[in-house]
Amino acid sequence: MNNLDIVAFSKCNEYDVDKLSDIIRSHFERIGATGEIFLGKKIAIKPNLVSAKDPSAVATTHPAVVEAVCRVLNEYGASDIMIAESPGGPYTALTLGHIYKVTGMAELSERTGLALNTDISYGKLSYPEAKKQKSFDVITPILEADVIINICKLKTHSLTGMSCAVKNLFGVVPGTLKVELHAVYGQLEDFSEMLVDLNLALMRDKTIISVCDGILSMEGNGPTHGIPVKTGVMFTSSSAFALDIAAEKYIEEEGETKYLDVGAKRLGINRFCTDDDLIREMGGHSLVRPDSKAGSLLRNLPNYFGGSLARFLEPKPKINKDKCIGCGKCMGFCPQKTIVIKKKKGKKLAKINNKNCIRCYCCQELCPSAAVDTVKNLLLRIIH
Ligand code: SF4
Ligand code: SF4
Repeated sequence: MNNLDIVAFSKCNEYDVDKLSDIIRSHFERIGATGEIFLGKKIAIKPNLVSAKDPSAVATTHPAVVEAVCRVLNEYGASDIMIAESPGGPYTALTLGHIYKVTGMAELSERTGLALNTDISYGKLSYPEAKKQKSFDVITPILEADVIINICKLKTHSLTGMSCAVKNLFGVVPGTLKVELHAVYGQLEDFSEMLVDLNLALMRDKTIISVCDGILSMEGNGPTHGIPVKTGVMFTSSSAFALDIAAEKYIEEEGETKYLDVGAKRLGINRFCTDDDLIREMGGHSLVRPDSKAGSLLRNLPNYFGGSLARFLEPKPKINKDKCIGCGKCMGFCPQKTIVIKKKKGKKLAKINNKNCIRCYCCQELCPSAAVDTVKNLLLRIIH
Protein backbone atom coordinates (compact mmCIF):
# COMPACT_ATOMS: atom_id res chain seq x y z
CA MET A 1 0.00 0.00 0.00
CA ASN A 2 1.16 3.54 -0.52
CA ASN A 3 0.97 6.49 1.84
CA LEU A 4 -2.49 7.40 0.63
CA ASP A 5 -3.78 4.09 1.92
CA ILE A 6 -2.91 4.74 5.56
CA VAL A 7 -5.68 3.70 7.92
CA ALA A 8 -6.07 6.02 10.89
CA PHE A 9 -7.86 4.53 13.88
CA SER A 10 -8.78 5.59 17.38
CA LYS A 11 -10.55 4.23 20.38
CA CYS A 12 -13.86 5.97 20.91
CA ASN A 13 -16.71 4.91 23.16
CA GLU A 14 -19.30 7.62 22.86
CA TYR A 15 -21.24 9.57 20.27
CA ASP A 16 -20.01 12.92 21.47
CA VAL A 17 -19.76 15.36 18.55
CA ASP A 18 -16.87 17.37 20.10
CA LYS A 19 -14.78 14.27 20.77
CA LEU A 20 -15.66 12.80 17.39
CA SER A 21 -14.67 16.03 15.65
CA ASP A 22 -11.24 15.86 17.33
CA ILE A 23 -10.83 12.29 16.14
CA ILE A 24 -11.96 13.01 12.57
CA ARG A 25 -9.70 16.08 12.39
CA SER A 26 -6.70 14.06 13.54
CA HIS A 27 -7.56 11.21 11.16
CA PHE A 28 -7.86 13.56 8.19
CA GLU A 29 -4.47 15.06 9.07
CA ARG A 30 -2.97 11.57 9.45
CA ILE A 31 -4.13 10.42 6.02
CA GLY A 32 -3.28 13.73 4.34
CA ALA A 33 -6.88 14.75 3.64
CA THR A 34 -6.38 18.49 3.98
CA GLY A 35 -8.38 21.56 3.07
CA GLU A 36 -7.42 21.68 -0.62
CA ILE A 37 -9.10 18.36 -1.25
CA PHE A 38 -12.43 19.80 -0.13
CA LEU A 39 -12.22 23.51 -0.93
CA GLY A 40 -14.69 24.56 -3.63
CA LYS A 41 -15.65 20.93 -4.28
CA LYS A 42 -19.02 19.25 -4.47
CA ILE A 43 -19.07 16.84 -1.53
CA ALA A 44 -21.48 13.94 -1.10
CA ILE A 45 -21.74 12.37 2.33
CA LYS A 46 -22.67 8.72 1.83
CA PRO A 47 -23.80 7.29 5.18
CA ASN A 48 -25.24 3.84 5.67
CA LEU A 49 -29.01 4.38 5.87
CA VAL A 50 -29.94 0.86 4.79
CA SER A 51 -33.37 0.91 6.43
CA ALA A 52 -35.67 3.10 8.49
CA LYS A 53 -34.23 2.33 11.90
CA ASP A 54 -33.41 4.47 14.89
CA PRO A 55 -29.65 4.97 15.47
CA SER A 56 -29.93 2.82 18.62
CA ALA A 57 -30.55 -0.21 16.38
CA VAL A 58 -27.02 0.37 14.96
CA ALA A 59 -28.06 -0.62 11.44
CA THR A 60 -27.32 2.92 10.25
CA THR A 61 -24.53 5.48 10.58
CA HIS A 62 -24.95 7.51 13.76
CA PRO A 63 -25.86 11.17 13.05
CA ALA A 64 -23.24 12.36 15.55
CA VAL A 65 -20.51 10.93 13.29
CA VAL A 66 -22.01 12.67 10.25
CA GLU A 67 -22.21 15.92 12.22
CA ALA A 68 -18.57 15.64 13.33
CA VAL A 69 -17.40 14.99 9.77
CA CYS A 70 -19.37 18.01 8.50
CA ARG A 71 -17.95 20.20 11.24
CA VAL A 72 -14.40 19.33 10.16
CA LEU A 73 -15.27 19.82 6.48
CA ASN A 74 -16.68 23.25 7.32
CA GLU A 75 -13.46 24.11 9.15
CA TYR A 76 -11.65 23.26 5.91
CA GLY A 77 -13.87 25.73 4.09
CA ALA A 78 -16.05 23.17 2.33
CA SER A 79 -19.49 24.61 1.62
CA ASP A 80 -21.24 22.41 -0.93
CA ILE A 81 -22.07 19.33 1.17
CA MET A 82 -25.06 17.02 0.79
CA ILE A 83 -26.17 13.71 2.26
CA ALA A 84 -26.77 11.22 -0.56
CA GLU A 85 -27.93 7.65 -0.07
CA SER A 86 -30.16 5.09 -1.70
CA PRO A 87 -31.44 2.77 1.03
CA GLY A 88 -32.66 -0.79 0.55
CA GLY A 89 -36.17 -0.82 -0.94
CA PRO A 90 -37.74 1.64 -3.37
CA TYR A 91 -35.89 4.87 -4.17
CA THR A 92 -38.63 7.47 -3.85
CA ALA A 93 -38.88 10.91 -2.27
CA LEU A 94 -41.33 9.44 0.22
CA THR A 95 -39.04 6.63 1.38
CA LEU A 96 -36.03 8.97 1.51
CA GLY A 97 -37.97 11.41 3.69
CA HIS A 98 -39.02 8.61 6.03
CA ILE A 99 -35.49 7.20 6.26
CA TYR A 100 -33.99 10.64 6.99
CA LYS A 101 -36.54 11.18 9.75
CA VAL A 102 -36.13 7.84 11.49
CA THR A 103 -32.32 7.69 11.23
CA GLY A 104 -31.90 11.17 12.75
CA MET A 105 -30.61 12.81 9.55
CA ALA A 106 -33.65 15.10 9.23
CA GLU A 107 -33.11 16.46 12.74
CA LEU A 108 -29.41 16.95 11.98
CA SER A 109 -30.30 18.79 8.78
CA GLU A 110 -32.83 21.05 10.53
CA ARG A 111 -30.36 21.91 13.29
CA THR A 112 -27.22 22.43 11.18
CA GLY A 113 -28.50 23.27 7.71
CA LEU A 114 -26.86 20.19 6.18
CA ALA A 115 -28.52 19.47 2.82
CA LEU A 116 -30.35 16.18 2.28
CA ASN A 117 -30.70 14.83 -1.24
CA THR A 118 -34.32 14.42 -2.38
CA ASP A 119 -33.65 14.12 -6.11
CA ILE A 120 -34.42 10.52 -7.08
CA SER A 121 -32.90 10.69 -10.55
CA TYR A 122 -29.90 8.61 -11.51
CA GLY A 123 -27.50 8.18 -14.39
CA LYS A 124 -24.83 5.89 -15.79
CA LEU A 125 -21.32 5.35 -14.53
CA SER A 126 -19.43 3.32 -17.10
CA TYR A 127 -16.34 1.32 -16.36
CA PRO A 128 -15.04 -0.46 -19.47
CA GLU A 129 -12.16 -2.02 -17.50
CA ALA A 130 -14.65 -3.92 -15.31
CA LYS A 131 -14.31 -7.62 -14.78
CA LYS A 132 -18.06 -8.17 -14.46
CA GLN A 133 -20.19 -5.01 -14.65
CA LYS A 134 -19.15 -2.40 -17.19
CA SER A 135 -21.88 0.11 -16.39
CA PHE A 136 -23.68 1.02 -13.19
CA ASP A 137 -26.79 3.04 -12.47
CA VAL A 138 -25.76 5.54 -9.81
CA ILE A 139 -27.79 8.18 -7.98
CA THR A 140 -27.28 11.72 -9.33
CA PRO A 141 -25.71 13.43 -6.27
CA ILE A 142 -22.99 10.79 -6.21
CA LEU A 143 -22.41 11.05 -9.95
CA GLU A 144 -22.10 14.82 -9.65
CA ALA A 145 -19.86 14.84 -6.56
CA ASP A 146 -16.12 15.54 -6.72
CA VAL A 147 -15.57 14.06 -3.28
CA ILE A 148 -17.45 11.23 -1.54
CA ILE A 149 -17.20 10.92 2.22
CA ASN A 150 -18.16 7.30 2.70
CA ILE A 151 -19.33 7.08 6.34
CA CYS A 152 -19.98 3.42 6.89
CA LYS A 153 -21.06 1.32 9.84
CA LEU A 154 -19.15 -1.73 11.06
CA LYS A 155 -21.55 -4.66 10.80
CA THR A 156 -21.86 -8.34 10.07
CA HIS A 157 -23.60 -9.14 6.80
CA SER A 158 -25.57 -12.26 5.91
CA LEU A 159 -24.27 -12.34 2.33
CA THR A 160 -20.78 -10.83 2.42
CA GLY A 161 -19.83 -11.65 6.01
CA MET A 162 -18.90 -8.07 6.83
CA SER A 163 -20.31 -4.69 5.84
CA CYS A 164 -17.99 -1.74 6.13
CA ALA A 165 -16.56 0.82 3.67
CA VAL A 166 -16.48 -1.19 0.41
CA LYS A 167 -19.98 -2.63 0.83
CA ASN A 168 -21.40 0.73 1.87
CA LEU A 169 -20.74 2.06 -1.63
CA PHE A 170 -23.21 -0.48 -3.06
CA GLY A 171 -25.79 1.98 -1.71
CA VAL A 172 -25.06 4.40 -4.56
CA VAL A 173 -27.03 2.10 -6.87
CA PRO A 174 -30.64 3.26 -6.77
CA GLY A 175 -33.26 1.25 -4.86
CA THR A 176 -34.45 -1.93 -6.45
CA LEU A 177 -31.76 -1.86 -9.15
CA LYS A 178 -29.55 -3.32 -6.42
CA VAL A 179 -31.83 -6.34 -6.45
CA GLU A 180 -31.19 -6.83 -10.17
CA LEU A 181 -27.45 -6.94 -9.52
CA HIS A 182 -28.07 -9.56 -6.83
CA ALA A 183 -29.95 -11.61 -9.41
CA VAL A 184 -27.20 -11.34 -12.03
CA TYR A 185 -24.39 -12.03 -9.55
CA GLY A 186 -25.93 -14.75 -7.42
CA GLN A 187 -22.61 -16.37 -6.48
CA LEU A 188 -20.62 -14.64 -3.75
CA GLU A 189 -17.46 -14.57 -5.86
CA ASP A 190 -19.28 -12.90 -8.78
CA PHE A 191 -21.06 -10.47 -6.46
CA SER A 192 -17.69 -9.58 -4.92
CA GLU A 193 -16.15 -8.92 -8.36
CA MET A 194 -19.10 -6.66 -9.22
CA LEU A 195 -18.75 -4.81 -5.91
CA VAL A 196 -15.06 -4.28 -6.61
CA ASP A 197 -15.91 -3.04 -10.15
CA LEU A 198 -18.24 -0.46 -8.61
CA ASN A 199 -15.66 0.69 -6.08
CA LEU A 200 -12.95 0.96 -8.74
CA ALA A 201 -15.27 2.89 -11.06
CA LEU A 202 -16.02 5.40 -8.30
CA MET A 203 -12.35 5.63 -7.28
CA ARG A 204 -11.37 6.38 -10.87
CA ASP A 205 -13.61 9.46 -11.04
CA LYS A 206 -13.81 10.74 -7.45
CA THR A 207 -11.83 11.38 -4.32
CA ILE A 208 -13.22 8.99 -1.71
CA ILE A 209 -12.52 9.30 1.99
CA SER A 210 -13.96 6.48 4.09
CA VAL A 211 -14.83 6.90 7.75
CA CYS A 212 -16.06 3.93 9.79
CA ASP A 213 -18.47 4.30 12.68
CA GLY A 214 -17.44 1.32 14.81
CA ILE A 215 -18.31 2.78 18.19
CA LEU A 216 -21.38 0.58 18.40
CA SER A 217 -21.37 -2.15 15.77
CA MET A 218 -23.77 -4.88 14.73
CA GLU A 219 -23.16 -8.57 15.29
CA GLY A 220 -25.30 -11.58 14.41
CA ASN A 221 -27.81 -11.23 11.59
CA GLY A 222 -26.56 -8.02 10.00
CA PRO A 223 -26.89 -5.76 8.18
CA THR A 224 -30.34 -4.97 9.62
CA HIS A 225 -31.44 -7.58 12.15
CA GLY A 226 -28.34 -8.14 14.24
CA ILE A 227 -27.56 -7.08 17.79
CA PRO A 228 -25.75 -3.90 18.89
CA VAL A 229 -22.35 -4.47 20.43
CA LYS A 230 -19.77 -2.01 21.79
CA THR A 231 -16.64 -2.15 19.64
CA GLY A 232 -15.34 1.33 20.50
CA VAL A 233 -13.40 2.22 17.37
CA MET A 234 -13.26 4.75 14.52
CA PHE A 235 -11.32 4.16 11.31
CA THR A 236 -10.54 6.59 8.48
CA SER A 237 -8.75 5.99 5.19
CA SER A 238 -8.58 7.21 1.63
CA SER A 239 -8.83 3.56 0.61
CA ALA A 240 -12.09 1.75 1.39
CA PHE A 241 -10.23 -1.52 0.84
CA ALA A 242 -7.42 -0.68 3.29
CA LEU A 243 -10.00 0.42 5.86
CA ASP A 244 -11.96 -2.82 5.52
CA ILE A 245 -8.83 -4.94 5.76
CA ALA A 246 -8.03 -3.22 9.08
CA ALA A 247 -11.65 -3.52 10.29
CA GLU A 248 -11.76 -7.20 9.33
CA LYS A 249 -8.67 -7.75 11.42
CA TYR A 250 -10.14 -5.74 14.30
CA ILE A 251 -13.20 -8.00 14.42
CA GLU A 252 -10.89 -11.03 14.30
CA GLU A 253 -12.04 -12.21 10.89
CA GLU A 254 -8.78 -11.67 9.06
CA GLY A 255 -8.81 -13.18 5.59
CA GLU A 256 -12.50 -14.15 5.73
CA THR A 257 -14.12 -11.53 3.47
CA LYS A 258 -14.38 -12.55 -0.17
CA TYR A 259 -14.67 -9.04 -1.64
CA LEU A 260 -11.41 -8.10 0.09
CA ASP A 261 -9.59 -11.06 -1.47
CA VAL A 262 -10.92 -9.98 -4.87
CA GLY A 263 -10.17 -6.29 -4.29
CA ALA A 264 -6.66 -6.84 -2.93
CA LYS A 265 -5.80 -9.01 -5.93
CA ARG A 266 -7.07 -6.48 -8.43
CA LEU A 267 -5.47 -3.52 -6.69
CA GLY A 268 -2.22 -5.37 -6.14
CA ILE A 269 -2.25 -4.58 -2.43
CA ASN A 270 -1.10 -6.82 0.36
CA ARG A 271 -4.14 -8.43 1.95
CA PHE A 272 -2.34 -8.84 5.27
CA CYS A 273 -0.47 -5.57 5.56
CA THR A 274 -2.28 -3.90 8.46
CA ASP A 275 -0.10 -2.64 11.26
CA ASP A 276 -0.23 -5.64 13.62
CA ASP A 277 1.30 -3.82 16.57
CA LEU A 278 -1.18 -1.00 16.40
CA ILE A 279 -4.18 -3.33 16.12
CA ARG A 280 -2.83 -5.31 19.05
CA GLU A 281 -2.49 -2.10 21.02
CA MET A 282 -6.08 -1.13 20.14
CA GLY A 283 -7.37 -4.61 20.99
CA GLY A 284 -9.73 -6.55 18.78
CA HIS A 285 -13.36 -7.37 19.19
CA SER A 286 -14.78 -10.52 17.67
CA LEU A 287 -18.37 -10.33 16.43
CA VAL A 288 -20.97 -13.11 16.47
CA ARG A 289 -21.34 -14.24 12.85
CA PRO A 290 -24.67 -14.16 10.98
CA ASP A 291 -26.65 -17.42 11.11
CA SER A 292 -26.25 -17.64 7.33
CA LYS A 293 -22.49 -17.95 7.49
CA ALA A 294 -21.47 -21.56 7.42
CA GLY A 295 -17.76 -21.07 7.93
CA SER A 296 -14.81 -19.79 5.99
CA LEU A 297 -14.15 -22.96 3.99
CA LEU A 298 -17.55 -22.87 2.33
CA ARG A 299 -17.78 -19.09 2.12
CA ASN A 300 -14.52 -18.71 0.27
CA LEU A 301 -14.76 -21.58 -2.19
CA PRO A 302 -14.18 -20.33 -5.73
CA ASN A 303 -17.00 -20.52 -8.28
CA TYR A 304 -15.68 -23.48 -10.26
CA PHE A 305 -16.02 -25.68 -7.19
CA GLY A 306 -18.06 -23.83 -4.66
CA GLY A 307 -20.99 -22.52 -6.69
CA SER A 308 -23.47 -25.37 -6.58
CA LEU A 309 -21.98 -26.93 -3.46
CA ALA A 310 -22.20 -23.65 -1.60
CA ARG A 311 -25.78 -23.20 -2.78
CA PHE A 312 -26.62 -26.70 -1.49
CA LEU A 313 -24.89 -26.25 1.83
CA GLU A 314 -25.54 -22.61 2.62
CA PRO A 315 -28.31 -21.94 5.11
CA LYS A 316 -31.77 -21.47 3.60
CA PRO A 317 -33.97 -18.49 4.39
CA LYS A 318 -37.09 -19.59 6.24
CA ILE A 319 -40.17 -17.57 7.08
CA ASN A 320 -40.96 -17.33 10.77
CA LYS A 321 -44.74 -17.72 10.71
CA ASP A 322 -45.22 -16.09 14.10
CA LYS A 323 -43.43 -12.91 13.08
CA CYS A 324 -44.51 -12.59 9.43
CA ILE A 325 -47.16 -9.92 8.88
CA GLY A 326 -47.70 -10.76 5.19
CA CYS A 327 -46.60 -7.31 4.00
CA GLY A 328 -45.06 -8.72 0.80
CA LYS A 329 -41.87 -6.62 0.93
CA CYS A 330 -39.68 -9.72 0.65
CA MET A 331 -41.69 -10.85 -2.39
CA GLY A 332 -41.15 -7.49 -4.09
CA PHE A 333 -37.39 -7.46 -3.49
CA CYS A 334 -36.51 -11.09 -4.07
CA PRO A 335 -34.20 -11.07 -7.14
CA GLN A 336 -35.31 -14.61 -8.03
CA LYS A 337 -39.06 -13.91 -7.65
CA THR A 338 -39.19 -17.03 -5.55
CA ILE A 339 -41.40 -15.75 -2.73
CA VAL A 340 -45.19 -15.74 -2.77
CA ILE A 341 -47.74 -14.51 -0.25
CA LYS A 342 -50.31 -17.13 0.71
CA LYS A 343 -53.29 -17.05 3.00
CA LYS A 344 -53.23 -19.61 5.80
CA LYS A 345 -56.08 -19.74 8.32
CA GLY A 346 -57.06 -16.22 7.30
CA LYS A 347 -53.52 -14.88 7.85
CA LYS A 348 -51.26 -13.69 5.02
CA LEU A 349 -47.83 -15.31 5.12
CA ALA A 350 -44.77 -15.29 2.89
CA LYS A 351 -43.60 -18.60 1.44
CA ILE A 352 -40.21 -19.25 -0.15
CA ASN A 353 -39.60 -21.74 -2.92
CA ASN A 354 -36.01 -22.62 -2.05
CA LYS A 355 -35.32 -24.32 -5.38
CA ASN A 356 -34.65 -20.98 -7.08
CA CYS A 357 -33.20 -19.16 -4.07
CA ILE A 358 -29.66 -17.82 -4.56
CA ARG A 359 -29.07 -17.17 -0.83
CA CYS A 360 -28.65 -13.43 -1.25
CA TYR A 361 -30.60 -12.86 2.00
CA CYS A 362 -32.21 -9.66 0.65
CA CYS A 363 -35.49 -10.94 2.13
CA GLN A 364 -33.90 -11.09 5.57
CA GLU A 365 -32.29 -7.68 5.14
CA LEU A 366 -35.46 -5.92 4.04
CA CYS A 367 -38.14 -7.62 6.16
CA PRO A 368 -39.54 -5.05 8.58
CA SER A 369 -40.55 -7.74 11.10
CA ALA A 370 -37.33 -9.76 11.36
CA ALA A 371 -39.43 -12.66 10.12
CA VAL A 372 -36.81 -14.34 7.94
CA ASP A 373 -34.67 -16.87 9.77
CA THR A 374 -31.94 -19.00 8.27
CA VAL A 375 -31.80 -22.75 8.66
CA LYS A 376 -28.53 -24.62 8.41
CA ASN A 377 -28.15 -27.65 6.18
CA LEU A 378 -28.24 -30.93 8.15
CA LEU A 379 -24.71 -31.85 7.04
CA LEU A 380 -23.34 -28.58 8.36
CA ARG A 381 -25.23 -28.98 11.59
CA ILE A 382 -23.53 -32.36 12.07
CA ILE A 383 -20.08 -30.97 11.14
CA HIS A 384 -20.44 -28.03 13.49
S1 SF4 B 1 -41.36 -12.25 5.66
FE1 SF4 B 1 -41.18 -10.12 6.29
S2 SF4 B 1 -41.17 -8.96 4.40
FE2 SF4 B 1 -41.95 -11.00 3.91
S3 SF4 B 1 -44.16 -10.81 4.05
FE3 SF4 B 1 -43.44 -11.54 6.03
S4 SF4 B 1 -43.16 -9.68 7.24
FE4 SF4 B 1 -43.30 -9.02 5.11
S1 SF4 C 1 -35.71 -16.03 -1.12
FE1 SF4 C 1 -34.50 -14.48 -0.06
S2 SF4 C 1 -32.42 -15.30 -0.09
FE2 SF4 C 1 -33.59 -16.42 -1.63
S3 SF4 C 1 -33.24 -15.33 -3.54
FE3 SF4 C 1 -35.11 -14.50 -2.65
S4 SF4 C 1 -34.44 -12.72 -1.44
FE4 SF4 C 1 -32.62 -13.96 -1.89
